[in-house]
Amino acid sequence: MIVILKQGITPQEKDKVRSFLSEKGFIVKEIVGQQDTVLGAVGKVSIDPRTVELLPGVSSVVPISKPYKLASREMKKEDTIVSVGRVRIGGNRVAVIAGPCAVENYDQIMTIAESVREAGAVMLRGGAFKPRTSPYSFQGLGEEGLRLLRAAGDAFDMPITSEVVSPSDVRMMAGYVDMFQIGARNMQNFELLKEVGKTGMPVLLKRGLSATIEEWLMAAEYLMASGTDQVVLCERGIRTFEKATRNTLDCSAIPVVQKLTHLPVIGDPSHATGLRDMVSPMSLAIVASGASGVIVEVHNAPEKAFSDGPQSLYLSQFQKLVHDIQALCPVVGKSLERIPRIIPESMSGRSAGEEASRDSLVVAFQGVRGAFSELAVRRSFDDSVSVLPCHTFADTFDAVSSGKARYAVLPVENTLGGTVYDTLDLLAMHPELTIVGEQQVRVMHNLIVHPGTEMGSIRKVYSHPQGLQQCKAFLDKELPDAERVSYFDTAGAVEHLASSDDMSEAAIAGAPAAAYYGMEVLRQGIETDASNYTRFYILAREENAEVYRSQAKLDKAALSFSVSDEPGALMDILRMIAGRGVNMKKLESRPIPGKPWEYLFFVEIQLPEDKAGFDALMDEIREKAVSFRVLGLYASVIE
Ligand code: PEP
Ligand code: MN
Repeated sequence: MIVILKQGITPQEKDKVRSFLSEKGFIVKEIVGQQDTVLGAVGKVSIDPRTVELLPGVSSVVPISKPYKLASREMKKEDTIVSVGRVRIGGNRVAVIAGPCAVENYDQIMTIAESVREAGAVMLRGGAFKPRTSPYSFQGLGEEGLRLLRAAGDAFDMPITSEVVSPSDVRMMAGYVDMFQIGARNMQNFELLKEVGKTGMPVLLKRGLSATIEEWLMAAEYLMASGTDQVVLCERGIRTFEKATRNTLDCSAIPVVQKLTHLPVIGDPSHATGLRDMVSPMSLAIVASGASGVIVEVHNAPEKAFSDGPQSLYLSQFQKLVHDIQALCPVVGKSLERIPRIIPESMSGRSAGEEASRDSLVVAFQGVRGAFSELAVRRSFDDSVSVLPCHTFADTFDAVSSGKARYAVLPVENTLGGTVYDTLDLLAMHPELTIVGEQQVRVMHNLIVHPGTEMGSIRKVYSHPQGLQQCKAFLDKELPDAERVSYFDTAGAVEHLASSDDMSEAAIAGAPAAAYYGMEVLRQGIETDASNYTRFYILAREENAEVYRSQAKLDKAALSFSVSDEPGALMDILRMIAGRGVNMKKLESRPIPGKPWEYLFFVEIQLPEDKAGFDALMDEIREKAVSFRVLGLYASVIE
């Protein structure tokens, strides 16, 4: 049953309700939602719900109709986000997990780990204990395989997952893996589920070969009842009469499961199809079905793989797949998960005057709390950083320039609105700052209201003019009579909403703003064009650049230069870039303040592998240009 607690319940009253339920023999879990706090009570016992309803601090008691309780949506309305190391699975993220079927040797796993990480995978897979159909097939390297997988995960900064097949291995494996994998053949190995659940660690639970959705969710319930709430479900194809593929991918299970449970569900196109050519299209089908990720088998030499070679992608195929998934994400309201960076305090001492928090590193952004820029900060750094919201772009530059903040995250380009010139102009005025990274955030607009407000009672809608414009079709159709009020920014509109008692007001902004100000998302993704992305630069003073840059493979550079006023001056420089086979990604020109009709050019290029070639190109441009500056080297968004 679900025990819904009153908003003003005291900690003592809550403890009393918990003890009452535990003494009756229930397993009790507290679930803090956006609206209420509830206690989930599950167990073999049954009691009259009224005895619980009468306890002080209890609002109501609702029975759960499904046989799975802790896993059910009835128990928890919000999506569970499973954290595996710094990677998050669930909600509006799409996490790509990749690696070989089995760990074979050091070189193999290192090569694959490096490549899949570079292509955009956030977690590494690799079997060490392989449940094979034939006892004569390769059974895996056992503990040695786990050691190698751990080394590869550590070397390339990825959490790892590997299959556990025996309850007696659980304790040993817990020392190596970040997430257990329960294979399809073991989905109903209840002793194994209980033992794994007891660790409290994240678990990837494959769907059994012939398991119904309910049986699958009951297996998740076993894990949860034993002690973990970090379960990721994985659809990997089921047994049908069809022989063309290894199994039959049951894509429709994905939306069905998402309705029934708050747990994230991902898909495994490799074991579902057994055929390399089917893996990419089925990965896209999995993402299109609303899954929170895919787990894909990738091998550096599939024809020599010890197991599942025919279904393993070549590295180049995997790279293309990640790009395709990224392109698909906005259509389904998701964005590709990336590994946020940790900047250890110890690696560069606190800058003088860094002030917003004494305890953690400070990152500045422009806007109020809950802005899309704050989301870009959260994606670029781990949770321990504190944010410094700044009023203007110039303030944000000053914060990082003066050392008040270690890094600043500023928008540079939007897919619909184009270049953010303020950022380029301020960069030109701050030669002490350099670009160390980039980030990308999907701008998804939502209609946000006070909890309880319904569509029919909305009279005014606040947002940034672009927000109102981008949602015009929705407003015209759903709220034709509501007044549209321009606000200086989208999150600011939600801040205003929260400070007003007028229940007939609404705002258009991102979901983080609704969560931050305790408001409710009434309609999600109301913008007309879903391919609305903003790209951000991460800026630092030169002395703090290396720590950030060192955590990823740098593949882009940004330059600025001006040229003499003569025919072909710009062309000469562009020819130098082209002449070295360097790919140019962006070109902008901006007026130079104080020099009428003279321009500063901004160029982004793909960083060539050949470092000496790049240095020579920079020297060549420096020689030819009137002014020249390397604005920064950084890793593109897919790292
Ligand atoms: C695997 O992931 O390597 C595997 C054996 O998968 P499944 O349990 O889905 O067959
Ligand atoms: Mn396999």
